Parts: sequence; C-alpha cells; structure tokens
Amino acid sequence: ASAALSRIGLAGLAVMGQNLALNIAEKGFPISVYNRTTSKVDETVDRARQEGSLPLTGQYNPRDFVLSLQRPRSVIILVKAGAPVDQTIAALSDHMEPGDTIIDGGNEWYENTERRIHQASEKGLLYLGMGVSGGEEGARNGPSLMPGGSLQAYNNIQDILSKVAAQVEDGPCVTYIGEGGSGNFVKMVHNGIEYGDMQLISEAYDVLKHVGGLNNSELADIFAEWNRGELESFLIEITADIFKVKDEEGGDGFLVDKILDKTGMKRENAASVLKEAGMSDDIASAARVGVDKKRLIDDVRQALYASKICSYAQGMNLLRAKSNEKGWNLNLGELARIWKGGCIIRAVFLDRIKKAYQRNPNLASLIVDPEFAREMVQRQAAWRRVVGLAISAGISTPGMCASLAYFDTYRRARLPANLVQAQRDLFGAHTYERVDRPGAFHTEWTKLA
Ligand code: NAP
Repeated sequence: ASAALSRIGLAGLAVMGQNLALNIAEKGFPISVYNRTTSKVDETVDRARQEGSLPLTGQYNPRDFVLSLQRPRSVIILVKAGAPVDQTIAALSDHMEPGDTIIDGGNEWYENTERRIHQASEKGLLYLGMGVSGGEEGARNGPSLMPGGSLQAYNNIQDILSKVAAQVEDGPCVTYIGEGGSGNFVKMVHNGIEYGDMQLISEAYDVLKHVGGLNNSELADIFAEWNRGELESFLIEITADIFKVKDEEGGDGFLVDKILDKTGMKRENAASVLKEAGMSDDIASAARVGVDKKRLIDDVRQALYASKICSYAQGMNLLRAKSNEKGWNLNLGELARIWKGGCIIRAVFLDRIKKAYQRNPNLASLIVDPEFAREMVQRQAAWRRVVGLAISAGISTPGMCASLAYFDTYRRARLPANLVQAQRDLFGAHTYERVDRPGAFHTEWTKLA
C-alpha cells in the first residue's frame, strides 16, 4: 500500500496553494492536497488533469489527508496568516506522528512561527516557516523560497524544494535560511524591499512626467531602455509595458492615467483644501520651463539607481541586526542570490549584492562596499539635482529623499547628535561620552550657562 502514498501534502488551496501544489506535482513528486472548503479540492484535481495528468490526489478530510502521506510526513500549509494557521495545524496535527513536519508557507509574523515551533516540538513535530515569493506565477512556475526553522525538516524536503524553486545560473532560488522564524522575517524584509522598489520607480515616473513633461509613450521607451542597463529587473520591465497599454473603456487615453492613485492615505480632502487656497499642483509646470529633458532623464536614472542601493543597504542591515539579536547567522550574500529569480524584486543588480557580501561577509553596509561606494559617489550630483528639482517643483519624493538622507548620514564624519546628547544630559542627567577620552560624563549645564 505504501506505493500509493504521496511524498508530500499541501493544505490550503487558494491562489498560492493551488499553484504551488501543481508545480510540485509537475516536478514529479506525488502530492496530496486538502482544503477546508472541498470544492477547491475538486478544482485543483481538475487543473492537475488538464495541465498534464500530474500526480496529484485530492483528499476531503484532515485524517485521510495526513494518512495519505509517506512518513516522515511533510505538510505545507498555505492559508491566511494568523488564526487560520493555528486552526489548520490543530486539525492536522491530531493525525500526525513524531518526526512529521509542518511547513507554513504563508506571510506569517515570525514570532507566531516561533511560538508554533515550540508547540509542535511538544508533540515531537518538526516545523518550518517558509517565505514563498513571486505570487501566483512564481508559485506555479518557480518561486523564491525562504525556509527557516528545523534543519532536519528542511533536509527531508530539500530535493523537492530545489526542483520547485526558480532556477538561475548559480542554482535554485532556495536555501536554508536559519533557525526559528528567520524564514518569515527574511520574507517580510524582502516584501519591504519590494515596496521600496515600487515606490522609487513611481517617484522617478512622477519627476519625469511632471518636471520633464514626458508622455506615456516616451516613458515606455525610457523604462525599456533602462531595462537594458544596470537597472535591468522585472519591475522596470513591467513598468515599461504598463505605459504602453491603452484604455479599452473607450477614448484614446492610456489605462495607467485612469487608475485611482490609491495609497491607503486619506489625502483627497487636504489636496482640495490646498487647491482652494491657491496652492494648486501646478507649481510643477512652472518648474518645467528650462529643464533639459535629456539630462533630466539621465539624472533620474542615476537617482533611481543610487536610491535603490540605499534601500537594499537598509533592508540588509535590518536583517543583520535581527540575525545578531536572534543568533540566526543569516548569510546575506546567499539571500541576495535566492532573490535573483522567482520573485518580484528579481534583478541583475542582486548578483552584485551577492558578490559584495562574498567579498566581505561582515560589510557594515552595502554602501561602504568599494564598488557600490564608487557608484554612489559618481551618482550623487545627479541624485541631488533630481531631489532638488522635485522639491522646487513641489513634487514629493519621500523614497529618494530618505535614501539620500541615509547616504549623507553615512558620508558625514560627525552628525549633530552631540547636541541631542547635551540636551538629554541637561534635562535628564543621561550623561554623555566625549570625543577625546573614555567614560560617561555629566555636567550641571544650567549653572554654567
Ligand atoms: P489567502 O486568501 O490568504 O487564504 C485563503 C485560504 O485560507 C483558503 O484556502 C481558505 O480556505 C484558507 N482559510 C482561511 N481561513 C481558514 C480557517 N480558519 N481554517 C482553514 N482554512 C482557512 O490565500 P493566498 O492568497 O493563496 O495566500 C496564502 C498565504 O500566502 C498567505 O499567508 C499570503 O499572505 C501568502 N502569500 C500570498 C501571495 C499572493 O500573491 N497571493 C504571495 C506570497 C505569499 P477556504 O477555501 O475553506 O476558505
């Protein structure tokens, strides 16, 4: 009977689960699938048949599902993060035995994973919190995978993960991340980097459009051109494509201009009040006069690239700080490598980050790597021109400005925090250190003033 058992199981058949299950089956690993609402089981079984008679078996209750798996069992869960994960674990773990593994593939908060690792270990179960990146398309054709937790659990399914993950020239986009909730934490920072990239690209667009006066077909050409250079990446590529799409709802406009600029912030009221007060957003058109378009385009490209380096430097340092605190021993170069394929942030640039950390695994920040440092210095004049132009045109570029502030903080030998220390010592006797000798000092400032 054991010949009929599946190698692995997957519970939770929404977008991510369905596609990852089909991917695993397509790589030749027999898989059992289960979902609380069983119509999704039928849907997945149908897709497996249509997409090439893949070795996938539908199961309709937790017990049959668990018992259909080879031991030691490995079960991937892909349900909504939070309470649904606890409920799914409760339903499945009743039927699991010591040595079996639960793998949560969702976007879970890493401390929840650490709690569940502890709970699972009381039943002798192993646990992985595995970031899965690349959305629907990645899950089906090759995601970037960030598994953290039990090394033994990882070794049990390493052959599956390395076939299922996206493949790049230096290997599959998966690696054992580290202990505890490290896989989820790394995935969270990865998502932050992804949003940072999108924000910076949208700021570049804003400056080109409102200061440079570029239209959509010019923007499509510029982004396509940028995608042939150092900015080459999935996000730059799709941005070029977006500017080409006409609105099908009639008229001759472009679709991108018809999309509500939703950011989750309640900004509309403020904008209309300011407009009433005569502060219209037409400051930009005044600024446009006298702008050298060609030079602006080249400056914005450099500003975008330099900002992106700072954004990645901050993400990597966030990972390093957490790694030190938790003893995860994260390999930052290896993380850059597994993001080279499968995920939304995939980019040629990540190979250079990988190499920077290979040159020096203890790099204090990406921006002090000799190669990146040289690039930042070469681009800082253009970067400052873009931010300066945006400010005088009244166009907010929070991402580019924050990145430039980060760079300048690193660049300067002394920051004004000496004054903050003096203030804290004056009002709270917090003490301060001196530049010329060791020790903690306190001064009765008001008596001396
Ligand atoms: P989702 O919409 O987050 O969740 C839907 C799934 O959760 C369904 O299978 C649903 O089962 C199940 N579920 C919800 N509450 C449940 C409960 N109390 N008990 C049992 N099952 C429950 O699905 P998704 O978009 O595929 O995402 C899955 C995970 O991957 C999430 O953590 C998400 O953040 C992460 N992720 C998503 C993407 C993406 O592009 N969508 C990308 C990367 C990571 P029923 O059918 O029975 O309701």
